[in-house]
Amino acid sequence: MKYQNIVVPADGEKITIDNGILKVPDYPIIPFVEGDGTGRDIWRASVRIFNAAVAKAYSNRAIRWMEVYAGEKAFNRGGSWLPDETVQAFEEFLVGIKGPLTTPIGGGIRSLNVALRKALDLYVCLRPVRYINGVPSPVKHPEYVDMVVFRENTEDIYTGIEFEYGTEDNRRFRELLREHFPEEYSKIRFPETAGIGIKPISKEGSFRLVRAAIQWAIDNKRRNVTLVHKGNIMKYTEGSFRNWGYEVAEAEFSDKVYTWTQWERTRSEKDEATANAEQEAAIKGGRLLIKDVIADIVFQQTITRAKEFDVLATMNLNGDYLSDALAAQVGGIGIAPGGNINYTTGHAVFEATHGTAPKYTDKNMVNPGSVVLSGEMLLRYMGWHKAADMIIKGIEGAIAARTVTYDFHRLMENAVLLTCSEFGDAVIQHMDD
Ligand code: NAP
Repeated sequence: MKYQNIVVPADGEKITIDNGILKVPDYPIIPFVEGDGTGRDIWRASVRIFNAAVAKAYSNRAIRWMEVYAGEKAFNRGGSWLPDETVQAFEEFLVGIKGPLTTPIGGGIRSLNVALRKALDLYVCLRPVRYINGVPSPVKHPEYVDMVVFRENTEDIYTGIEFEYGTEDNRRFRELLREHFPEEYSKIRFPETAGIGIKPISKEGSFRLVRAAIQWAIDNKRRNVTLVHKGNIMKYTEGSFRNWGYEVAEAEFSDKVYTWTQWERTRSEKDEATANAEQEAAIKGGRLLIKDVIADIVFQQTITRAKEFDVLATMNLNGDYLSDALAAQVGGIGIAPGGNINYTTGHAVFEATHGTAPKYTDKNMVNPGSVVLSGEMLLRYMGWHKAADMIIKGIEGAIAARTVTYDFHRLMENAVLLTCSEFGDAVIQHMDD
């Protein structure tokens, strides 16, 4: 593939996928988008950390970074917020990373992040939420939080099928509804003045999301997967997600999981004591427990009984709320990482979960933790676990030494205030602790 503005490093190789297994060369080419606003400061600090971690972990490996353009930097260069060749580069090189991007207001593109996810069909948004000792937290036991959210990334009301009140499309859609679905139409409280949205949740989309969550949980020796849904109200979207989740679990992982639907069947065919004994034996035998919870109560229980939750699989909107709410327990979005992944094609783009924090642009102040930990996820995804462990060690060391950026400094006592780049130095230093 020929690129116009992207310079492909001559001394690296592509990551490829073979039968679902990533093939990572020793000198992989990895595309990165620096990001807008504070993205520049954050990337400078982060890339030094990534390179140091890889160099300390392996004598014969290094990442060949390849800058690709999106957001303001791309717009200023050539007029497009997301040039085709950037999407092509992520497609060709499989695994990449990006900093935060400005969402253009009044521009032709709704959200660059959503556009990239769509173009590459990155159907999982993976958000690990784990406590790093010393990080200021609003809860009593943040150390109980060790959860991983699998958020479906391509469906739900995020598909953007909406009919704005007062428009011709809205009128036509209401007409269609009134003519063909009069009962449903009569359920709209104020039909004449309603904006209307559509929420598609498919069997295929639910299957692949829950399949990925279960496979990940098995590979990473986790204890349970919880399907989070509001199926009591939205029966044929959220309720079906729950049912399909159990279906794929039993159809494809029958010898590795025990599900609450199995428990329910045994209870109704025999009795509750037998169902409980069956579940206990299955868990003791190392099976993964698949359970479900209603979306409203999950916000309470993940605080009051954090230890009971492990991997959470849910749809787009629930996942959006839930992953930020969980991140708040362990220090907020300033250090929450994320990855958008298609486990079938291997495509993955790791990214900061916060925005561009424009008021701190070029002030070398902000916390690079979210991008740094996204890079840690990227290294783990590549199978470079030793380098990923180095990053965790470095971050834990820097925070335990109370050397932090402004956002943590204002919440900690007796801490030393560091700039973004100084925090990068501290993380690298603590890799040798
Ligand atoms: P934001 O950039 O996330 O910033 C909100 C606040 O969060 C900041 O003012 C700051 O809080 C804190 N914060 C964010 N990043 C931080 C960091 N690295 N270190 C420490 N504190 C950090 O949200 P926004 O101001 O609503 O959005 C700004 C732009 O980013 C918009 O164009 C939006 O569309 C875009 N955005 C992009 C992404 C993405 O690319 N993934 C995600 C969200 C938003 P304090 O003021 O309290 O210090």
